[in-house]
Amino acid sequence: MSENNGLTGKVALVIGGSRGIGAAIARRLAADGAAVAFTFASSPRRAQEVVADIEGGQGKALAIQADSADPYAVQAAVARTIETHGRLDVLVCNSGILTHGTVDTYPLEDFDRMVAVNVRSVFAAAQAASRHMREGARIIVIGSIVADRTAVAGASVYSMSKGAVAALVRGMALDLTPRGITVNTVQPGPTATDMNPADGPHADWLKARIPLGRLGEGAEVAGFVSYLAGPEASFITGASLNIDGGYTL
Ligand code: NDP
Repeated sequence: MSENNGLTGKVALVIGGSRGIGAAIARRLAADGAAVAFTFASSPRRAQEVVADIEGGQGKALAIQADSADPYAVQAAVARTIETHGRLDVLVCNSGILTHGTVDTYPLEDFDRMVAVNVRSVFAAAQAASRHMREGARIIVIGSIVADRTAVAGASVYSMSKGAVAALVRGMALDLTPRGITVNTVQPGPTATDMNPADGPHADWLKARIPLGRLGEGAEVAGFVSYLAGPEASFITGASLNIDGGYTL
């Protein structure tokens, strides 16, 4: 993994950083020089592995248990990060869940949980963080290309949640331009993680539809986030940026 050191002296918080794309982002931002806090819900062992990796590279890491379904827990995680490190420069909202079901079968309880974890937590985190952020700070939300292309049946609620965060980001970006804080959505295509395993039942179907012929890697998404978090991305705000191997072409 390359690093750019552009975040030396900065503090980053990754909501949902114990596994998959979020863990890759936490590791990458630490390699870039940031002190990194991240939340997790149900994977304390995986969270400790990320902390150990970052500390092994002489970085600073703090794992905070906070269920993204609880907006007050998310806001408390923001507060704890600022108490610990004194500032917050980069917020990455990554935690997300994916449950399937067609419109005639999908339970309403699952609808509410999807909205709570995938959408409301983004607003809660951005609200708490933005109150403390200074000019030049970054808010980056991990959406999905399903905001643009649903492609499979049974994904209506997940797709809605990712369309919602893309729209939320555009609005928050306008709210925060007067303070010099940028807000963007990164929309990965199929990426090899626990949520979407490279050897899972849908992997071959997906690969056949991705022009580059493979799933993405968490580290590739993390590299894109690293760029957006850094000083060179200062003129990008309100954007939905795809990283998908051409899936949406
Ligand atoms: P994984 O399921 O592999 O990892 C999810 C991460 O989010 C874990 O660290 C998990 O922590 C955390 N998380 C999940 N629910 C909660 C919660 N309620 N509270 C706090 N943390 C939580 O997912 P991916 O890495 O694949 O996905 C990350 C993001 O990228 C998601 O928003 C997803 O929608 C999006 N995405 C993924 C794609 C893919 O193909 N993989 C494609 C497009 C977008 P813990 O284990 O502790 O609960």
